[in-house]
Amino acid sequence: MALKQLDEAAKIIDLDNGMHEILSHPKRVLTVAIPTRMDNGEIKVFTGFRSQHNDARGPFKGGIRYHPQVSIDEVKALSMWMTWKCAIADLPYGGGKGGIICNPKDMSEGELERMTRRYAYGISDIIGPHTDIPAPDVYTGGKEMAWIMDTYSALKGNFVQPELITGKPLAIGGSLGRNEATGRGLSFTIREAAKKLKINMKTATVVVQGFGNAGQFAAQLVEEQGAKIIGVSDSQGGVYNKNGIQVGALRRHKEKKGSVVGFPGTKSISNEDLLEQECTILIPAALESQITKKNAGKINTKIIAEAANGPTTTEADEILYKNNILVIPDILANGGGVTVSYFEWLQNLRREYWSENEVNERLDTNITKAFSDVFNVYEKYNVNMRKASTILAVNRVVEAIKIRGLWP
Ligand code: NAD
Repeated sequence: MALKQLDEAAKIIDLDNGMHEILSHPKRVLTVAIPTRMDNGEIKVFTGFRSQHNDARGPFKGGIRYHPQVSIDEVKALSMWMTWKCAIADLPYGGGKGGIICNPKDMSEGELERMTRRYAYGISDIIGPHTDIPAPDVYTGGKEMAWIMDTYSALKGNFVQPELITGKPLAIGGSLGRNEATGRGLSFTIREAAKKLKINMKTATVVVQGFGNAGQFAAQLVEEQGAKIIGVSDSQGGVYNKNGIQVGALRRHKEKKGSVVGFPGTKSISNEDLLEQECTILIPAALESQITKKNAGKINTKIIAEAANGPTTTEADEILYKNNILVIPDILANGGGVTVSYFEWLQNLRREYWSENEVNERLDTNITKAFSDVFNVYEKYNVNMRKASTILAVNRVVEAIKIRGLWP
């Protein structure tokens, strides 16, 4: 899919063959064996990867995921998407991604720490504050980032180097506002899209699939813009009330009961039906491939803002475009996360801390500009927003490669 999207963009902008070839391949992919002492005394060897797609615009940037389904092809594709995501947000970064094939849910804290530190050791020669800056991804978080930073710092000069990695806990140089960043960035792109489509947010209705980190903050922040949340779901099921669901109360309910299901005053609804409810804005914030050629024709909304990565298939994209639904694609819509990661890195490099307000304001400026840049390409080329985003990104990266030239 990543290669196909690049091919499509290349065709539209008549990209030089050589450049197309360069961008089709990651610059470097490292595979590491990770021998780990398990709690029962045995040694288990995990496999880990780090793919560095392109660094023409700046150091590689991208998360590290722990999952049984991690593969070399997956991290290669994800690293390419990170190159585009950083270029769209106009951050001075390229794209990278890493992962370990493992099931973290079956591992003890000690096993996780030993595996993480050994992986950090394995990739330590290719990551660094000015070369490749990792971050959390699926099933990794502040804890793993802290272990990686600590291991790297001990290995490379034995002084603390918080600028190696982002998504850290606040106590060791994390940034205020990072937790909410993806949902907040998403809410800014929705605000901008609504302006373009002349939609009044105060009369807008919103459906959110997935009520985790991204979905909860996105719901809360569009509610603050005046919109009415009418449907929400999580892995257990969905709830619907056409008169509106109060996000704060729903969050407290989920904290207590573990799910949005059963929230008083709502009727229950399946995840499938929820996606097809009439609304002004639909926010997929759960899994990939939720909007497909099967249900795309039944989606009854004006804007789809992709908090999740890859929730819409390519065939569905075409149907939505024909039906005049504006899709704010993942690589633009959820770029708030990596943008605040960039702010975290800047704060670490300067050994300073910004207020939450400052972080949020800078995020607003950055994402609003990214939205407007993509929208200009969308209007110029008459293509959907996903293609427009890729075109913008490819053009920016190609410009950097050309200016720097090939050496040796
Ligand atoms: P999360 O684990 O906090 O939340 C996921 C939510 O989806 C949970 O509420 C879960 O119950 C729900 N869910 C799972 N299966 C579902 C199903 N079949 N139907 C409906 N809901 C279901 O994860 P998150 O961090 O919010 O990430 C969600 C998506 O956003 C992922 O695709 C992720 O890659 C993407 N994303 C997140 C961030 C971030 O900073 N959190 C950044 C970029 C992209």
